[in-house]
Amino acid sequence: MKKDFYFNEFSESLKTDVVVIGAGAAGIRAAIEASDNAVNVIILSKGRLINSGSTFYKLCQGWGIQLISKEEGRNTYDNFFKEILEVGEGMVLPELAEILITEVPRRVHELEKWGINFHKTNGHFLKFLCCFADIEREVAGALDMENIQNCFRNEVAKRNIKVIDNFKVVKIITGRSLEGKRVRGIAGIDKDGNLMIVESKAVILATGGGSIIFNHNMNSPELTGDGYTLALDAGACLINMEYIQFIYGIIAPKKIHLNDKVIESYSSILNARKERFIEKYIPKDFSINEIIKERVRHGPFTSRLISKYFDFAIYSEIMKGNGTDSDSVYLDLRNLKNEIKKIKKKYPTFGDWFSWLQKRLTFSEEDLIEISLCAHANNGGILVNGKTMTEIIGLFACGEVMAGPHGADREGGNMMASTLVFGKIAGENAANLSKTSSHIKVNKDIVLKEVNSLLVTEKEAIYCGC
Ligand SMILES: Cc1cc2nc3c(=O)[nH]c(=O)nc-3n(C[C@H](O)[C@H](O)[C@H](O)COP(=O)(O)OP(=O)(O)OC[C@H]3O[C@@H](n4cnc5c(N)ncnc54)[C@H](O)[C@@H]3O)c2cc1C
Repeated sequence: MKKDFYFNEFSESLKTDVVVIGAGAAGIRAAIEASDNAVNVIILSKGRLINSGSTFYKLCQGWGIQLISKEEGRNTYDNFFKEILEVGEGMVLPELAEILITEVPRRVHELEKWGINFHKTNGHFLKFLCCFADIEREVAGALDMENIQNCFRNEVAKRNIKVIDNFKVVKIITGRSLEGKRVRGIAGIDKDGNLMIVESKAVILATGGGSIIFNHNMNSPELTGDGYTLALDAGACLINMEYIQFIYGIIAPKKIHLNDKVIESYSSILNARKERFIEKYIPKDFSINEIIKERVRHGPFTSRLISKYFDFAIYSEIMKGNGTDSDSVYLDLRNLKNEIKKIKKKYPTFGDWFSWLQKRLTFSEEDLIEISLCAHANNGGILVNGKTMTEIIGLFACGEVMAGPHGADREGGNMMASTLVFGKIAGENAANLSKTSSHIKVNKDIVLKEVNSLLVTEKEAIYCGC
């Protein structure tokens, strides 16, 4: 993409019913639903289709979705709902959490029909405790990224959905109408650096999170939080933005996902001088064993539970100057290998992950790898109603960029669930709205001016090193 941020004209204008920004699970599911509701859809994606965002993140083995099966009764449903609210510390929008758990089994069933190979034993999903959960539930685990990519690609190809990738949306165009502020389309920059306009009756934001703003992150490079700025600039609201999840990831020799059950082997964690240190920081009132027992139950850091003392220990050691050059600590694989049998026995998918890692990472001679907490997902985002619509008429949001079903902490598996459940809802509602409305003329001169002023700010931010 060219680095000259001043444009004299739009090189091309397109017109469609629904524009979907983002080609992760949420964007694709939304586009499929809109297309199945007989409207014209264009997906615009900053990365390449099936190769961008967290959904198709190649440095991760795959993902899991927590669900309650049909046979389970009201009690199980109520417990799940209660847990989500508790874990969210009062910051969840209950209406959205309710939709999430009601709809997720249907969305998982649909993925099976698409051909996703979920991990099963004797025809059933594995049951285990997801992060922050108190009750074991079924988890639909998809651990073959190539299979995931193929299934999503096939579903897009079956439909008349136009996809423009390597396209960065920089502005949502809005204007006044009798009912209030209304969407008119988007402006963005294509792979050759040309400024384009796409006029549309509805726009769905599915741009994922923004973890890339952190030095240590476990995300793909496009996830710079564009959806949040696009929404704010258009006049929508953001909530819960302070709730960002951090999980342990491998930083060196190569950025790659780390299975959180590794924490079980806390004696393998060393400072830059190759000394053990975790025990030094454990408060007197607790034993290291009770802290580790709590910590292995969830991947992300939380300040709600005593497991935080494990993370404080690592962070304190780094702050004292005893971390590695990349502000991380070492994981000693020689020691881990001695304990691996024990961990594999306790956690059924750990062995699979370790084999997956060994195929992708050449361990150093000393078998020391660097690990650190890495930003990986945003629990907050754009405020929407049960139809996924923002306060701007025709502007919808779904997936990670949308707030509501998760609060301060989020239960494992509920983010992928959210992409599919709310992706479908967004696609359906955007299609319905576009069927009953007409295109509103866009004043291109004004948009050109606004885009140029936005991009000048972006250019200044880049030069300032922001
Ligand atoms: C390592 C890791 C493991 C995870 N494991 C799980 C798990 O097991 N269970 C679970 O529930 N969740 C998990 N998550 C979270 C979950 O994967 C993500 O929240 C989810 O995939 C987000 O999907 P999405 O469709 O909303 O966004 P993404 O898949 O991130 O897609 C965002 C899309 O937006 C596009 N985009 C961004 N900005 C622009 C722009 N300006 N213009 C055009 N396009 C743009 C990107 O190119 C991309 O196509 C994990 C995340 C990570 C990183």
